[in-house]
Amino acid sequence: MHKPGRHFLQIPGPSNVPDDVLRAIDQPTMDHRSPEFGELGLRALSGIKTIFKTKEDVVIYPASGTGAWEAALVNTLSPGDTVLMCQTGHFASLWETLAKRLGLVPKVIDTDWRTGADLAAIEDHLERDFEHTIKAVCVVHNETSTGCTSQIDKLRAVMDATGHPALLMVDTISSLGSIDYRHDEWGVDVTIGGSQKGLMLPPGLSFNAISAKAREASRTAGLARAFWSWDEMIAANATGFFPYTPSTNLLYGLVAALDRLHAEGLDNVFKRHQRHAEATRRAVRGWGLEVLCKVPEHSSGALTAVLLPQGHSADAFRKVVHTRLNMSLGNGLGRLADKVFRIGHLGDFNDLMLAGTLSGVEMGLKLAEVPHQAGGVQAALEYLSETNPSLDLSH
Ligand code: PLP
Repeated sequence: MHKPGRHFLQIPGPSNVPDDVLRAIDQPTMDHRSPEFGELGLRALSGIKTIFKTKEDVVIYPASGTGAWEAALVNTLSPGDTVLMCQTGHFASLWETLAKRLGLVPKVIDTDWRTGADLAAIEDHLERDFEHTIKAVCVVHNETSTGCTSQIDKLRAVMDATGHPALLMVDTISSLGSIDYRHDEWGVDVTIGGSQKGLMLPPGLSFNAISAKAREASRTAGLARAFWSWDEMIAANATGFFPYTPSTNLLYGLVAALDRLHAEGLDNVFKRHQRHAEATRRAVRGWGLEVLCKVPEHSSGALTAVLLPQGHSADAFRKVVHTRLNMSLGNGLGRLADKVFRIGHLGDFNDLMLAGTLSGVEMGLKLAEVPHQAGGVQAALEYLSETNPSLDLSH
């Protein structure tokens, strides 16, 4: 059926791809062994380091984020190694499943999926691990299924205080380029990223930022690895090339997306998302609904998960919004299935896109007969007009 106007893609990734990034991807495919490719590769590989805030190696895989999770584990660990994982939501639980399939032994700290990682519990496990059997602590920075972030700077401080030598691995798939993140300063050993969220690219690229300690661990790690091996990648990357065929056209897009992020300034990007997140939370409260994340300082700048009143189906609501209003909202995942919907406010996004998104939610609540109060959109608009819009089009 013909649907006039643009679809509103307000899931928390894949996010909207800006037109200039799409145009950059839309070029003739390049010879990936040519000198021109080497130049493109070097620009992409050095540019992406600024987003991770690292001076160390970053490798780029032609794969979705799940591949980069696997790469982080197989390059650094050995069969039977214990990994400490905090189950903050659905994505943390998928990473745990992946670790088990690789022959690792996850020790899992559960949460109620309404907060970031439980730092006290992590500290407790590390303190009691006298034999240092825990080889890595794995945490998701921004849980895309819940809209809760984990405080990685505080986690680093906890690990330092215990003096435990475990590696620290952090999934930034939905926070990279959206929420402040500092690979070097926070002493992270492997950071995992993906292209399809804050980097405003289509899905298909994923990343490992690698500390010297992780690289050292990779020399003795015993898990089998071939495609994901860092060594060949880092050796080829020295001159901008890859050991196998890279995603040439997505790399054109990556360079264009990095230029956009730098033109705006990373700190401004983070502030823009935080402001939209606050406006969204005000709208949710205005509707008389509940934000899933219950710890304000863990609230995500990238997305907001909203609980439906008991007895109401979040999927039925999303279906109404999709079919009647041509807008996609994120679904509830894992134990949150049908209980929440998620509003993505990450990537290429501005005040009027948020206003349209929240208007669509408010209209959808009415159409789907979900009990709520009117006025959520108004609360968000008031906040947006009282705070400085980030756009300055005067020059
Ligand atoms: N981790 C997080 C936090 C995610 O949001 C996702 C996907 O949305 C993944 C991991 C898995 O990444 P992918 O679906 O790109 O393989």
